[in-house]
Amino acid sequence: MKINTVKEVPAFGHIRYLREKLVEWFRTHGRDYPWRQTSDPFRVLIAEIMLRRTKADQVKAVYDRLFAEYPDVETMAKAGNKELEQILYPLGLKWRTPAFGLVAREVKEKYQCKIPEVREELITLPGVGEYVAGAVLSIAYGKKEWIVDSNIVRLFRRYLGIKTSKEGRRDKHVVEIAKAYVSGKDPRKANLALLDFAALICLPRDPKCTDCPVSATCHYHVLGKKEKK
Ligand code: SF4
Repeated sequence: MKINTVKEVPAFGHIRYLREKLVEWFRTHGRDYPWRQTSDPFRVLIAEIMLRRTKADQVKAVYDRLFAEYPDVETMAKAGNKELEQILYPLGLKWRTPAFGLVAREVKEKYQCKIPEVREELITLPGVGEYVAGAVLSIAYGKKEWIVDSNIVRLFRRYLGIKTSKEGRRDKHVVEIAKAYVSGKDPRKANLALLDFAALICLPRDPKCTDCPVSATCHYHVLGKKEKK
């Protein structure tokens, strides 16, 4: 991934405070999905590939069916595109169907059916980018590995009052903030909290600042800034 120019990273204490408050919020407001009830890295990896540009409810509808048919790397590696297509068609984005068989075959051949535990290896797999790699490492393996998507960029930009480029998820200072955010205990919960909070509370058009546990220390809220969406 191309990384953009470095800009200032806010004080670590501010980022740590955000993590503590979001994890607390997550205990009662976090979303529950089948791929969050497992620590099987294969299932988490496949679910994350399904979730790219697809709503979680659509993924929920095919998740059980897919794993009932192909419960592990070995069986999915043998799956043909036609069979996969029959299960995955509700997700749309037909072009990505081959990625599921390809990723399973590569994990089988190169890694003896074990999902890699390092980012550099994960991002070489078909359909896996920095976000999916970070999600697998933190959610399935419990590692202190960062994730950034467009919702997370928006939250960091507002809460910390930073500037970001049009492709903020590629900005080096945003990646540094995401790394600092996940550097404490329980990285799995910290990243899930970040995802859910950015998607449910710090909404693109009308952020729910009155329900927000960090509003008193939020740059956007305190200064009443009207940022461009
Ligand atoms: Fe987002 Fe509003 Fe909370 Fe700031 S106060 S983090 S803008 S929801």
